[in-house]
Amino acid sequence: MRKDLVDILCCPICKEELELKITKEEEDVVITGTLTCTKCGEEYQIEDEIPNMLPPNLR
Ligand SMILES: [Zn+2]
Repeated sequence: MRKDLVDILCCPICKEELELKITKEEEDVVITGTLTCTKCGEEYQIEDEIPNMLPPNLR
């Protein structure tokens, strides 16, 4: 996913903003990393450029 996508993504549980932590990136694209909700603290993994935005109970 592009880094600026974090601005339009939100937590599927509480709709709050997400904080992006990058493990691996190429130019403006996040390859692997973590999105953490600033409110409930839930983490969403980014793997192979794809953020997994499913709530924990649907994974
Ligand atoms: Zn949340």
